[in-house]
Amino acid sequence: MRFFACGNCNQLVHFDNTQCVNCGHRLGFLPDDLAMHALQPSGEGGWQSSARPQAALRFCANAGLDICNWLIPADRQGELCEACSHNRLVPNTTNPDGVDRWRRIGQAQRHLFYSLLRLKLPHPDRIEDPVGGLVFDFLEDTVQPDGNVEPAMTGHEEGLIAIRAAEADDATREKARVEMNEPYRTLLGHFRHEVGHFVWNKLVRDRNAFEGFRAVFGDERQDYAAALQAHYANGAPAAWQDSFISAYAASHPWEDFAECFAHYLHIVDTLETARSFGIEVDPRGHEEMAAEVDFDPYRAAGAEQLVTAWIPMSVAINAIQRSMGQPDSYPFILSAPVVAKLEYVHQLIRGASTPRQQMA
Ligand SMILES: [Zn+2]
Ligand SMILES: [Zn+2]
Ligand SMILES: [Zn+2]
Repeated sequence: MRFFACGNCNQLVHFDNTQCVNCGHRLGFLPDDLAMHALQPSGEGGWQSSARPQAALRFCANAGLDICNWLIPADRQGELCEACSHNRLVPNTTNPDGVDRWRRIGQAQRHLFYSLLRLKLPHPDRIEDPVGGLVFDFLEDTVQPDGNVEPAMTGHEEGLIAIRAAEADDATREKARVEMNEPYRTLLGHFRHEVGHFVWNKLVRDRNAFEGFRAVFGDERQDYAAALQAHYANGAPAAWQDSFISAYAASHPWEDFAECFAHYLHIVDTLETARSFGIEVDPRGHEEMAAEVDFDPYRAAGAEQLVTAWIPMSVAINAIQRSMGQPDSYPFILSAPVVAKLEYVHQLIRGASTPRQQMA
């Protein structure tokens, strides 16, 4: 994610900011031009951007609970922004915990949508695509009469993405991470992984592009339920790191694809941040580990270009994390077969770009 600048005073501002810390202007993100706008009230709940004075804007209805900072052109239909309009079940907002969870979930969701918009990936809602459109349920855990908590399941089915809302709580998510023996577990990672399944449906299955997929990921017609059962019973094969990005990716070609899609977004997004801040890596005496992001990662030539910048950058970021006593940001190894899979994801995304909705 790049940084932005306040349209009023040029203060550096971030994607999630709602107010400029320097001049106090209200800030909102407009997906139509993928930019942050410094705003002034224009009456009747409307807002006007100093950058686009001719455009009447309003906030997403979820801005009311300080859950969303996205804008909508005033003449467009609907109360919710381009991200929130995909929500079906949301956390209970009658208690502060529910609002707090939704705030964190929404933040990760908009981050995901930023990438979908930058990559021009199709993301029809259920009005445009009643059967397979992209829709989200943020599910609460169930408390049984005996007091036991039955966790909600995170998962994907035909465009419906379920996210366990309790994973917005650090303690719950960390507990799940340890139990699953995972090196990395975040809300943003969940969004990126699950939407990977949706993208597979739309760009591989619905376009009948199985041949190319199977050549890289293997045959997805193997029994999915049995494959997952075997994965949870026996774990991943010993040498999984030679060909998979994670142990879970080794369970089934669908999961392998979803993991690779998530990593593609991790890499592109983090490289955009590095580029935005002008971060370069140039370890003294180790030219082979030098890297700068002198290209737009969202328009990369291919996976090789991304990975060439990403490996040195992620090594440096991990080292900085360790200096702060934090776990590695990117605890993964990119083997040659994984880079080939990322190249497949890259080509798939390139071939799928849809024209962006233009602002009226
Ligand atoms: Zn400002
Ligand atoms: Zn919204
Ligand atoms: Zn999955």
